[in-house]
Amino acid sequence: MGLDMGIEEKLPSGVLLTTVEALANWTRKASLWPATFGLACCAIEMMTTGAARYDSGRMGMEVFRPSPRQADLMIVAGRVSQKMAPVLRQIYDQMPEPKWVLSMGVCATSGGMFNNYAIVQGVDHVVPVDIYLPGCPPRPEMLLDTILRLHDKILHEPLGDKRREQQEAKEPPLVKPGEMPSSYFFNKKKKKQWLEAAKTGTTEQLRIKNWMAERGVKVD
Ligand code: SF4
Repeated sequence: MGLDMGIEEKLPSGVLLTTVEALANWTRKASLWPATFGLACCAIEMMTTGAARYDSGRMGMEVFRPSPRQADLMIVAGRVSQKMAPVLRQIYDQMPEPKWVLSMGVCATSGGMFNNYAIVQGVDHVVPVDIYLPGCPPRPEMLLDTILRLHDKILHEPLGDKRREQQEAKEPPLVKPGEMPSSYFFNKKKKKQWLEAAKTGTTEQLRIKNWMAERGVKVD
């Protein structure tokens, strides 16, 4: 009893054929580990999703990791303040590839009702977002539904050459990742700052900090 209740029931001959791509994506989607990153009221719903009633552990993701190096999913749960933006970016940068970002609630997605100087008007200004979840606050059922949709996305992500082809087919970004923006290239002070930051891999943090400083937001 118990031994015949899994996938082996469906495999009477004990043989399973699949592709490396399907297997890798299946394991990835079935073991997402979210970074612990609650920013406001939405985080309460996120915590509830991990607790006994909704039990996100059923999807292999009950382990919210305190270290970004052990996480591959960032659930941005709540409004992102201008001061938090560089921190958020740093945590994202510290997460190993492959990684995904879920923007939870209207505040993270668009600033929500906080249309003011203190709040980033959409976390996609800071990190690339894979999936958006609307609502204020979204209920745990909604978060679970979004996670299942993200699973579907991960399951169909190409790997290797196919992934490269897919990336190349996309429109090239205005500034390629890691490339010095023209506003820095033609400004001596900023160019020097950029070259310094490039040595430590912190060009994105520098860009966000300068962007905020130019708008009168104190960073430190
Ligand atoms: S979307 Fe609503 S619940 Fe979520 S952080 Fe904003 S105000 Fe709070």
